[in-house]
Amino acid sequence: MVRSFTDLPLTPAMRDAIAGAGYSIPTPIQAQAIGPILEGRDLIGCAQTGTGKTAAFTIPTIERLAGAGSRPAAPGGSGPRALVLVPTRELALQIAEAFDTLGGGHGIRTVVLIGGEAMGPQLSALQQRPAVIVATPGRLFDHLERRTVSLGSLRIVVLDEADRMLDMGFAPQVERILRVAPLDRQTLCFSATMPPEVETLVRQHLVRPMRVEVGVIAKPVAKVTQVLYRAETQGKTPLLLRLLHEERGRTLVFTRTKHRADRVAHAVMAAGHRATRLHADRSMSQRREALDGFRSGRYRVLIATDIAARGIDVPEVSHVVNFDLPGTPEDYIHRIGRTARAEASGRASSFAAPEESDQLRAIERHLGHPVPRAAGSGNENDRARAVGRN
Ligand code: AMP
Repeated sequence: MVRSFTDLPLTPAMRDAIAGAGYSIPTPIQAQAIGPILEGRDLIGCAQTGTGKTAAFTIPTIERLAGAGSRPAAPGGSGPRALVLVPTRELALQIAEAFDTLGGGHGIRTVVLIGGEAMGPQLSALQQRPAVIVATPGRLFDHLERRTVSLGSLRIVVLDEADRMLDMGFAPQVERILRVAPLDRQTLCFSATMPPEVETLVRQHLVRPMRVEVGVIAKPVAKVTQVLYRAETQGKTPLLLRLLHEERGRTLVFTRTKHRADRVAHAVMAAGHRATRLHADRSMSQRREALDGFRSGRYRVLIATDIAARGIDVPEVSHVVNFDLPGTPEDYIHRIGRTARAEASGRASSFAAPEESDQLRAIERHLGHPVPRAAGSGNENDRARAVGRN
């Protein structure tokens, strides 16, 4: 039973890096996953968002690459030796940061290959012979086509947010990438949610994987207080402005489309709040500025499409607002997992218009209980009508 990082066969450099990151005891997913990964096993890790998943694979990956652990990864030529595939650019940057923080002591160099950025700097970074690549599938695929990267020396492949990586949009590219990686590699798949059909797909890429599961799968962390507001579409903006006025904390707002994110952001800014937007039509530098500004507190409100829902770690998001309900229950879990990360608690408010009743039903079926209704929910519609917003 692993209760402390000292129960794990970690190098002194890694122990220092862990202490430097401020981690005193392993989270449950770390306690269960780090040992088997150090032994070289394939692994499927199911853990809720905010449970320390990233370090659960980053720590043993770095140790194996550095030749530590009970079965160090064999040297594999001069190419990259570990690959982490993720669905979004922001998540890639965040994971690379974890590799830098925890792998600095071992001199592990990491390159991030994501779309929306110029090729030039990525090509120069590749020439520095990085040990680790963190990539989104599209850009990695471009590099493979141009033969600017080779995956023949990979020892470890990690699919983070594996359910997303193997769904219809990404699956063809991910599968082609996995086909060029050596067969005797170690493969790790992590996700908060793992529907059975996805698990079947995932298992095709792993060899006798160990399954590690933490908490109740696909349920939001218990510390999130969920509230549902019934609101007509035209009543949602006034309702959001009221909530932003009543509460002071850092707030992440999700909308269904990029266009709606822009519109809501303008209304929120016009009401005097420090707000910004994150969606796929913004340039990479705008997205980075938005996220950095939200992290640093320059912006109190971030309005985003689902691109920001997965894996993004912003400490102290006290309130997540589903301005529009997400299309799937899994996205609901991911979205509200942006609050109450690590030890904090948080609030998740969802606005449901009458035409969103199917999504609401699906979410509540998935949760196994209704989302508690806000006291007086429904008044927004009357108020909106009274001021003639239609
Ligand atoms: P993740 O689930 O990987 O996104 O991690 C969520 C947050 O928990 C991040 O801010 C991590 O830095 C933090 N974290 C990860 N491992 C630990 C740990 N053992 N102790 C305390 N915080 C941690």
